[in-house]
Amino acid sequence: MARLPHIALAVEGPAFTTVTGRTVEAVPDRLYLVDSTGVIARVLDPAGDDAAKARHAAEIAGWYTKLEPGQYLLPGLVDTHIHAPQWAQTGTGLDEPLEVWLDKYTFPLEARFSDPVWAEAVYSDLVATLLRLGTTTAVYYGTVDTEATLTLAALAAKAGQRAFVGKVVADDPGANPRWYRDSSTRAALAETERFLGGIGQLAAKAPQGLYGVVTPRFIPSCTLEGLKGLGQIAQQTGAFVQTHVSEGDWEHHFSLERYGVSGTVVLEQAGLLGERTILGHVVHASDDDLRRLYAHDAVISHCPHSNAYFASAVAPVRRMLDEFKLRVGLGSDISGGFSPSLWQTIRQAVISSRMLQAGVDAARAPARRGRPGSALTVDEAFYLATAGGAEALGLKAGRLLEGYLFDAQVIDTTSATGNRLPLFDEAADAGSHGVFEKIAYLTTAANVRQVWVHGAQAVPPPGGANH
Ligand SMILES: [Zn+2]
Repeated sequence: MARLPHIALAVEGPAFTTVTGRTVEAVPDRLYLVDSTGVIARVLDPAGDDAAKARHAAEIAGWYTKLEPGQYLLPGLVDTHIHAPQWAQTGTGLDEPLEVWLDKYTFPLEARFSDPVWAEAVYSDLVATLLRLGTTTAVYYGTVDTEATLTLAALAAKAGQRAFVGKVVADDPGANPRWYRDSSTRAALAETERFLGGIGQLAAKAPQGLYGVVTPRFIPSCTLEGLKGLGQIAQQTGAFVQTHVSEGDWEHHFSLERYGVSGTVVLEQAGLLGERTILGHVVHASDDDLRRLYAHDAVISHCPHSNAYFASAVAPVRRMLDEFKLRVGLGSDISGGFSPSLWQTIRQAVISSRMLQAGVDAARAPARRGRPGSALTVDEAFYLATAGGAEALGLKAGRLLEGYLFDAQVIDTTSATGNRLPLFDEAADAGSHGVFEKIAYLTTAANVRQVWVHGAQAVPPPGGANH
């Protein structure tokens, strides 16, 4: 018998996960043994001798969880683009175009985060909300304020969520209001370095992972000198980079008009493209842009909700994946997107891709209406929200397999949740792909019963029971 590794957690039940590609597989009852570093050490047949011994040891130690009938284990979700301060205005103001929405609603709101009491109230609520929805990893934009953004990082770390966090840079005095911008380009760069140093200190106490992100808001907010300075910082420190590019017509054309080249080329020339660069949207990018992103191994965060409001088009995700071989994750893009639930984002990714494929104007002949070959399956959208997002961030997570980080959630399909999923024939349904599809389309926070990040419980089961 193989020797069992040192186990810190044992979870037993049926699961749904991608294994190698983008197809979700139903896995029958298994015993997942998680070691003290948060990694899935073994996945055992529960009927075997190894499983019996491990289960017995875990029961005695008090770290054994057995799923109830109707409960399933799934990988945790990875939100690759979310503006934490905008949680406070989520669901409002979406009737304006992006450039109006920013000035009218978003900049005044973000400016409020220099108040630490306000920042802590909003940020702690958002982190808790995301964890309750099964989001185990989040890539956050903070605000221009360094201290408030460090508070966000500290709150995510304390709650057990894996977080990538960036202090926003907006250093162009001609593009940003006096009361909400970096005081100078020099100050923006110095504050970014101070922020990355602060994250480094916090990260020492966050085994689940806490990463600083160099974060120019987007090209229109920044001077070229600022962008280049941030590119240097990213290259010197190896930090992640996040920004928006080719989101909508206005922002896409801004780069072409100011610099004579696309936003992707501006970022490339500023030294901001690399394998740790996460680009929001990329809806209007040319094929040449996409080839450049591939050459730099940069990754895309697809945000279908906010694209429906601000992008005036649908991102060609299937082309990005299949033709350009790019890494793609999903983003809720709070609050350009209205839902904090990445489950909702999965659904919208499918819906938007199907509308791109079929077209939307019934006055056109069917053959001329859409873009064939664009549709994503629900399995593929789930892959983007789990393993795809993890791969985009360089994490071995997002799949329930040996050697992967144990980032996982228990989805309860039963009436005990208050949101019973429509499963009427238990024998036929149990463990079928149809159960996964119902989970993907109908799950709400009520169905998410437990969440683990890096092998540690981040959201306990209701009532405080262990199993
Ligand atoms: Zn955004």
